[in-house]
Amino acid sequence: MNVKTPYDVVVVGNGIVGLSIAYELAKRARELRIAVLGPAHRSGAASMAAGAMLNTFGEITKYTLLSPAGQAKFQICRDALDRWPTWLQEVKDASGVADLDRSLSQGTTVLLNAKSGHLDDENFAALQSALAKFDEPFEEISPADVPGLDPLAEARPLRAIHLPREGAIDARAVLDAMQTAATSLGVTVIDAEVTGFDVRDGRAHGVHLADGGSIAGATVLLAAGAFSGPLTEVLGPGAVPAMFAGKGIAVQTQRRAEPGFQHVVRTPNRSGSCGLHLIPLGDGVEYLGATNLLFDVPAHVADIGMSEFLVQVAREQLDHKLFFSDVKAWMVGNRPVALDGFPLVGRTSIDGLMIATGTYRDGFHCSPVLAKLVVDDLLGEGSLAESLPHFTPERAPIESMSPQEAVREFAFHGVSASIEAGLRLPSHTDTSVLDLFYQQAAQRFYDLVPHPVGLSPEVLLGTVFSPDLENHRITRYLTDAHKRYSGTR
Ligand SMILES: Cc1cc2nc3c(=O)[nH]c(=O)nc-3n(C[C@H](O)[C@H](O)[C@H](O)COP(=O)(O)OP(=O)(O)OC[C@H]3O[C@@H](n4cnc5c(N)ncnc54)[C@H](O)[C@@H]3O)c2cc1C
Repeated sequence: MNVKTPYDVVVVGNGIVGLSIAYELAKRARELRIAVLGPAHRSGAASMAAGAMLNTFGEITKYTLLSPAGQAKFQICRDALDRWPTWLQEVKDASGVADLDRSLSQGTTVLLNAKSGHLDDENFAALQSALAKFDEPFEEISPADVPGLDPLAEARPLRAIHLPREGAIDARAVLDAMQTAATSLGVTVIDAEVTGFDVRDGRAHGVHLADGGSIAGATVLLAAGAFSGPLTEVLGPGAVPAMFAGKGIAVQTQRRAEPGFQHVVRTPNRSGSCGLHLIPLGDGVEYLGATNLLFDVPAHVADIGMSEFLVQVAREQLDHKLFFSDVKAWMVGNRPVALDGFPLVGRTSIDGLMIATGTYRDGFHCSPVLAKLVVDDLLGEGSLAESLPHFTPERAPIESMSPQEAVREFAFHGVSASIEAGLRLPSHTDTSVLDLFYQQAAQRFYDLVPHPVGLSPEVLLGTVFSPDLENHRITRYLTDAHKRYSGTR
């Protein structure tokens, strides 16, 4: 495809982030010519597999508020929580999908159970202290009063906190409506895959396509989720934090007869999953999610191992009667995860090239706020460099812990995940053997890396067991990033 008429803005990526930005931009600047590019099948897209929990406090972990970058990210989530009711109404009106909120599940109950080791205790405590700090409404309830909850005796919940303002919605329905809303405002949606940018004289002039064509645009916005990594290489080695695809498997089920859950029910976030959760979508349809393992490239199909794990933990920890539910659909998507775990949102050193990705576990929830801030910048009504200074895409990796702490945390998460998966040890030993195994694996990686950076447990898990660590892309990235940014911090 060769489009002669240039667009004012070409959005690369047709997931919730790209479409929300296009919609917000078209709404506020009707005169602009805007195109959204992406394969119509959206295979592997995070937005297609998301549970779309609209959670802020439900997502809290012990790390959330530790660093200034973490606090800035949390502020986006809090703003999103306030924004969703009106955003949803707007999308309903603009798309004409009057029953869009049919699948809206209001209220989220966060459980503390004994199935995941002490990691859950720490994250649950962080939730409690954040609720108090930010004066967020909540109610501590008896787990016995959570409708639908019926776990195995060994996975009995110990405590439950209900968050009345947090819920979930059917991601696929919202995505469809968002595309309709954007096109109704004049946005052109094009079924195409972008292979690179047309950069001349330090400026982006458009994009190259897989079919050999090109599309011209005055501004190009990269929002291709976990598929964005290779496209960021145009900025040079080490310029943008390396990206991972956080492969997530989820399953939609149908209850046969008995009533199920009435609200979102979830655990705190865990490293080996994004927090086990069940979302009632109406008429007995339930979403069970989700696994989370990081890979170098996005996946398009679910695997047996993690699918089995998901069903096992949902049945054990949420409702053993899920055994009788029908499977409606397996879903797989890839969370866009930057090496440091934080979003990549802002202008780049290539004039006219912007990036909006790296949203990891909660990009669906954060999408209205990111859309607003990106459009403020595009229209000259604000500046991403000022509104989101931590998340400028060209940056040294943000360090939330030291390498030594990272080694310890990696082992702690490894042990907790093993307990959740059903670890049984002979009585003459304890979890210290596993702890040592994980510590040694992480330490071996750090011993090889010339310029170590404290990385999260899930990033280490996606890296340290690779065979050729010396030539691993993350080892290379850390060296390049150090060369580029040392002395700038
Ligand atoms: C299982 C799972 C559960 C989740 N649960 C939640 C949740 O409960 N709440 C929440 O807020 N978030 C959740 N997330 C995270 C959330 O889905 C993501 O943060 C968000 O959807 C990212 O949106 P995106 O538009 O950036 O990326 P994507 O949705 O991945 O969209 C990127 C799009 O770009 C397209 N593309 C790929 N390559 C190219 C190319 N070369 N050219 C053009 N287009 C291209 C893809 O086809 C895709 O459609 C979950 C994710 C997963 C996987």
